[in-house]
Amino acid sequence: MKYIGAHVSAAGGVENAPLNAETIGAKAFALFTKNQKRWDSPPLTEKSIEGFRLNLEKVGISPKMVLPHDSYLINLGNPDDEKRAKSLDSFIVEAKRVEELGLRLLNFHPGSHLGKIKPFECLNLIADGINTAIAETESVVFVIETTAGQGNNVGYKFEHLADIIENIKDKSRIGVCIDTCHIFAAGYDLRTEETYNKTMDQFDSIVGMKYLQGFHLNDAKSDFESRVDRHDSIGVGNIGAEAFRFVIEDSRTDNMPLILETPNSDLWEEEIQLLYSFSKE
Ligand SMILES: [Zn+2]
Ligand SMILES: [Zn+2]
Repeated sequence: MKYIGAHVSAAGGVENAPLNAETIGAKAFALFTKNQKRWDSPPLTEKSIEGFRLNLEKVGISPKMVLPHDSYLINLGNPDDEKRAKSLDSFIVEAKRVEELGLRLLNFHPGSHLGKIKPFECLNLIADGINTAIAETESVVFVIETTAGQGNNVGYKFEHLADIIENIKDKSRIGVCIDTCHIFAAGYDLRTEETYNKTMDQFDSIVGMKYLQGFHLNDAKSDFESRVDRHDSIGVGNIGAEAFRFVIEDSRTDNMPLILETPNSDLWEEEIQLLYSFSKE
């Protein structure tokens, strides 16, 4: 089964997100469980938690098909000890919110070395942070997102993800989300069936398909190998609609959240329909 949706708004409370997903015909969704641009947020209220669970049930979306995204401020690989500690605290708070909501996954961008340390040192710091977060929580699976490699961000090579995973003590608590725009900008092609399969084979041999927990489905305004992160609506950008057919036809993307983060939310319903039309079921 395919579970396709979008990163929907949680304005007014997380309990609104499942309803926003239903409106666009989604069977999966992403959300921020707190303000993504602020460090502090009030704790989730009982009412919000209860409302979220009830609304999920009401719209018939499984908690397993929800892929929360953490705050953009968090950098687990920050070379500055104090700033990294602040990021890790916030990361753990987010993971606990995910557990309170009865969800399984937390998607995050690995981090940035800020030009101050070597990428491999940054990757080690990130793995340390994830190990601590795993120890401080019960069950959440930490899902590293592939990045475009813009600026000093790590995570744009499959090897970076493999490096982090290698240093995770409990590998049942770690996963990966492939963002199509990001990998394309990072130099992994998916515009033809041949290049798509080559990219997925590389992912399998370097990272391991068993770690794949979801996809972000975005076309790209940015060019191939540009290391620039600019999303576009499906079929409009430099990747093109065909690539998304390959993703949807691929049985390796069954039973996981496939999430649009495309810029025009007015098109989400249409984009979801288009993607479902690629599904053979
Ligand atoms: Zn993404
Ligand atoms: Zn992006």
